[in-house]
Amino acid sequence: MKSNFQFLFEKNRLETFNTWVYSDKQQCSARKMAEAGFIFVGSRIEPDLAKCFFCNKELDGWEKDDDPWKEHLSHSSHCQFAIRNTPEDEMTVYQFLDIANAYGEKIIEDYHNNKLTLLEKAFKTAEEYFLPN
Ligand SMILES: [Zn+2]
Repeated sequence: MKSNFQFLFEKNRLETFNTWVYSDKQQCSARKMAEAGFIFVGSRIEPDLAKCFFCNKELDGWEKDDDPWKEHLSHSSHCQFAIRNTPEDEMTVYQFLDIANAYGEKIIEDYHNNKLTLLEKAFKTAEEYFLPN
């Protein structure tokens, strides 16, 4: 089961942004990006590609005055991390455990959905093999 559990922590998300396009003085800083749940997944070709550790939404085309929380929520309105809209240093222990729990549930759900898709494919293949028309 692959997961980004380490990225539940803002500090680990921030460490991925060592080549971010905007400085700390700008609204769309690496710190704000990490705070809003993003990890840097860009390259030389896509220098501002970031992905939410929770919902996996990838966004690029960031502008210096963008608010990462707002952009996150407007492009991924179902993301449980974005919906909570709370920076890690303002979270209570209970709130942090709540998001950790929601993330754990999501990983398990994704895992089961993948297995179900594989099973459905296997059944279809078997059906076609045993029941030719
Ligand atoms: Zn998200």
